Amino acid sequence: MQLMWADEAGQLYDAPDWQVVGRSAFWYYPWQAYGRWIPLPEGSTLFHLPGRRPIGIDPQGRIRPYPKGWAVAAFVAPAHTQLALSAYGKNPGAPTLPLYAYTAVGWKDGRFWVPAVRIDPLPRQDASQFHPPAIARGVQTLRKRFPHNRLVQHLMDNCVERYCCPAARNFALGRWEAPLPTSPACNAACIGCISLQEPHESPIPSAQERLSFLPTPEEIAEIAIYHLEHAPLPIVSFGQGCEGEPLLAWRIIEKAVQLIRQKTAKGILNLNTNGAWPAVIERLARAGIDSFRISLNSAQPEWYERYYRPRNYSFAMVKESMQRLVRLGKWVSINYFTLPGFTDQPAEYAALQQLIQDTGLHMIQWRNFNIDPDWYIERMGFDREAFEGPLGVRFLLDDLKRRFPHLTYGYFNPTGPFIRRHLGKTVLSLPLQSPTTPQTSL
Ligand code: SF4
Repeated sequence: MQLMWADEAGQLYDAPDWQVVGRSAFWYYPWQAYGRWIPLPEGSTLFHLPGRRPIGIDPQGRIRPYPKGWAVAAFVAPAHTQLALSAYGKNPGAPTLPLYAYTAVGWKDGRFWVPAVRIDPLPRQDASQFHPPAIARGVQTLRKRFPHNRLVQHLMDNCVERYCCPAARNFALGRWEAPLPTSPACNAACIGCISLQEPHESPIPSAQERLSFLPTPEEIAEIAIYHLEHAPLPIVSFGQGCEGEPLLAWRIIEKAVQLIRQKTAKGILNLNTNGAWPAVIERLARAGIDSFRISLNSAQPEWYERYYRPRNYSFAMVKESMQRLVRLGKWVSINYFTLPGFTDQPAEYAALQQLIQDTGLHMIQWRNFNIDPDWYIERMGFDREAFEGPLGVRFLLDDLKRRFPHLTYGYFNPTGPFIRRHLGKTVLSLPLQSPTTPQTSL
């Protein structure tokens, strides 16, 4: 598998006598160490990395920097989990990389290959599924049908047309998971937040702008009901990349859920969240939300809190949220930011097993961590001496399944039939008896 490099103009070249290597945190390994590589999936993007010299195996078998050009990395298409990072040496003063995942990429038999696995078989965000004319027709239909709905305006103008968001495009196409962003504010300050990077501390821009208004329960409900009633295997999801934390708008969400379930019992209501407030989470579960996806950079409280910089909540509260939800019979996924060399640290893996054991969570969505690994090391204050040799992400995928046979893997929030199959019961989100009103709201 040949090494790739790029010139300053971004022209890509292979290095015929050099082999590609992969990176896991502070270590570089020959490409074979990562097992089977796959052809670069359609819909992936290739980057050349300014100020970064590619590292590979020279004709004498030594791992060292390639004598010229910039390193190359792949931003692998959705539904694929990376097993190794692009390997490079960073020159002093090299710019921080924006919020993408930087997976290793090699050249063989006339094509690009990456160390990744297809973790979710569903073609929900495959490039082949998105046809611009059909999307344009869908946008027009929704604009005509909901002329006064600010959420439709935000989703069509901003998410579809400006950011090409796959979830918003699926909404326009009337299928799969429709996004319901709700909250402009957040109760955390993640180092790699994709919707808010503070200029006074961050050298990079946020990947997208945050919602600037609070939608009404009626605005949310009318588009959710429309999607649930018309789309096959429908899901509607609170908690999107273009907003803060939906729990801060729980009263609006609770009201919207009630309005939705008064009209339809179809589909899945899902909440993507940081899981900060167990009482609020339980309130929304009792109101009728079926599945919850809680985002984590780590299952270790210290790493979690160093990255999320939570305001008035702790990792222990996030864990309690998961436990309450499983007790209530709800579907619980973690959105696990996967970064080779960090995720597969022995201590991290032990913590992850403990979390699964203690909560009974049902699914791990192995999401590639969209962050510059060197910037992450710097901002988290990681010390190489404190790190052990990584276990390998592929080992984690296999070993965890062996230890927790009930556990499921994916990249997307599951549909109703999938949840029913795994929870083994009907997932009709009938309102449960509601406890006292929690004292936290937007
Ligand atoms: S929880 Fe989400 S919105 Fe809040 S800071 Fe973190 S990434 Fe950003």
